[in-house]
Amino acid sequence: MPTSLIDRTGVVFGVANKRSLAWSCAKALDSQGMRLCLTYATPRLEESVRKLAEELTNPLILPCDVTVPEEIDAVFEKITDEFNHLDTVVHGVAFAKREELAGDFYHTSKEGYMLAHEVSAYSLTAVARRALPLMEGRQGTIVTLTYIGSERVVRNYNVMGIAKAALEASVRYLANDVGPMGHRVNAISAGPVRTLSASGVGGFTKILDHIAKNSPLRRNITTEDVGKACLFLCSDMSSGITGTTMYVDSGYHIMGV
Ligand code: NAD
Repeated sequence: MPTSLIDRTGVVFGVANKRSLAWSCAKALDSQGMRLCLTYATPRLEESVRKLAEELTNPLILPCDVTVPEEIDAVFEKITDEFNHLDTVVHGVAFAKREELAGDFYHTSKEGYMLAHEVSAYSLTAVARRALPLMEGRQGTIVTLTYIGSERVVRNYNVMGIAKAALEASVRYLANDVGPMGHRVNAISAGPVRTLSASGVGGFTKILDHIAKNSPLRRNITTEDVGKACLFLCSDMSSGITGTTMYVDSGYHIMGV
């Protein structure tokens, strides 16, 4: 089956709880036989991530704050020891200070701007660089998660929209770098889903209501919608697709007034 991921391995950054989009990606990849490493950002999350991971087949669970280069190094060292190679990276990590996700964008502090970019955009490049030696000869796939606030103004999304624009541009530059090695890099632009991160965006419930009423499918997406798209992008089904941003948003991105 072209979605089979047996004998493949992957690392998923960004699982916090069962609502995390990264978790739906992990479940979809695991369901097709991929052996996974999950990382958690802070010691506070370890227990809940380990509990969730009981649903997966023999996962590796490691700490990783993506702002700490030594922690990223340690993840890839451990993956080298345990898996010896790597086929897939799923990057579902983002952060901005809550006070930067409401009100006028011009209030964004330099520190808040830099932090949002470090965690939400630069970290993709930081993990991709370390993954490459392990992907050698394996037609690797890298998938990240973005949002339409990168290209349109979404009230209160503010600095995260700027960081997502940088993330999407990173996808294109990385895709061009690694394409000659046979690897692919893509982004999923997900519609709004009520997760821990999303709850930090001011007026999030209004956004959900708007999509349910105005998107072509007249519904909000589910985390499973995102997991299935991730499986597609990480399997041979998408072998000719790289450098792209794929919308999983009930079709909302096509709408004008
Ligand atoms: P989430 O809160 O479940 O996931 C965000 C993850 O980022 C968490 O696991 C958190 O621990 C991790 N993280 C934050 N700072 C980190 C750091 N310094 N080091 C390592 N990890 C860190 O929320 P989510 O909505 O599943 O977010 C996943 C991705 O999906 C994000 O990139 C988000 O922007 C994107 N996204 C979400 C939505 C939505 O509406 N929920 C829509 C489009 C895109």
